[in-house]
Amino acid sequence: MAKRDFYEILGVGKTASDEEIKKAYRKLAMKHHPDRNQGDAAKAAEEKFKEAKEAYEMLSDPQKRAAYDQHGHAGVDPNMRGPGGEAYGGFAEAFGDIFGDMFGQQRGGGRAGGRQVYRGGDLSYAMEVTLEEAARGKDAQIRIPSWDSCDTCHGSGAKPGTSAKTCGTCNGQGSVQMRQGFFSVQQTCPTCRGSGKVIPEPCTVCHGQGKIKKQKTLEVKIPAGIDDGMRIRSVGNGEPGTNGGPPGDLYIEIRLKKHDIFERDGDDLHCSVPVSFITAALGGEIEVPTLQGKAAIDIPEGTQAGKQFRLRGKGIKGVRASYPGDLYCHIAVETPVKLTEHQRKLLRELEESLKKGGGKHSPSGDSWTDRLKNFFS
Ligand SMILES: [Zn+2]
Ligand SMILES: [Zn+2]
Repeated sequence: MAKRDFYEILGVGKTASDEEIKKAYRKLAMKHHPDRNQGDAAKAAEEKFKEAKEAYEMLSDPQKRAAYDQHGHAGVDPNMRGPGGEAYGGFAEAFGDIFGDMFGQQRGGGRAGGRQVYRGGDLSYAMEVTLEEAARGKDAQIRIPSWDSCDTCHGSGAKPGTSAKTCGTCNGQGSVQMRQGFFSVQQTCPTCRGSGKVIPEPCTVCHGQGKIKKQKTLEVKIPAGIDDGMRIRSVGNGEPGTNGGPPGDLYIEIRLKKHDIFERDGDDLHCSVPVSFITAALGGEIEVPTLQGKAAIDIPEGTQAGKQFRLRGKGIKGVRASYPGDLYCHIAVETPVKLTEHQRKLLRELEESLKKGGGKHSPSGDSWTDRLKNFFS
């Protein structure tokens, strides 16, 4: 059977925005959600869901989308994922990607011994790095929250001498059937929040949580070339899961500090280099800063303000780049200030002398005069 067009599957146009694609996918995924399709319909719904998920995965990735737009199905690796292939996780995993917020606690849900198992929440951590650190990479230590089993109640959450009881609302199941519109949806038990147990007398140290929040130090490797806004995922260092569920992940979000000299643009760097108007006129060697130290460049006679000189390879090597970017030095010609009487006199003499040359000393003079003429006529 011929593969259907990804855009057709999602029901969007070829020019659909990322937001539209995401929306269309959410809608389809809701429609084919396993809770809403029972019996014979479930199998067909699962196929539909996988098809939509594949289309979404392709079109939400700018690189894959570009390849698909250009070469169709042949442009995207057919071995990556396919309907029915092993690469698909369960429904829970798939929904975890996009429905995390929507389905709230059901995220990554599963069942163990009749009780609802939840994946722990993700944590995010903002880390400021300097440009130098971003360029070279660094080993950082961060303090993040962690949880330890409560010593007082040994993790049970019940006051010593008492014990937890089976929840009466769900009879220890951890979940209850609720009607939502047309559908019957299995929901987490509101009384015991899925644990299947209630604690009549909670432990006073951990307030019935069975665990205590602490801090731990985590070693993090910041790869060389990292840029502002990039995230590093530290698997399993998020909040702990409930009822034996897996922990969430920790996301370290990089914020690049403003640099005194360089401005970063992707892998390239830019800096402004002040040059005296004498040097700009006569040409000469000027010193410029690079991340690796000082460098010198020769600027030619008659260099104009704003002229840029490129130092190849003196930028930053991006995380996935094979070559470093370049450094652009922008010439800022300085006008001298606080002149003495003698210096003023010299400049006036220079001006007189330049005037005698007509327009030939003023590189933009002629075109400027012409443009003014056109503007006022
Ligand atoms: Zn309950
Ligand atoms: Zn306790």
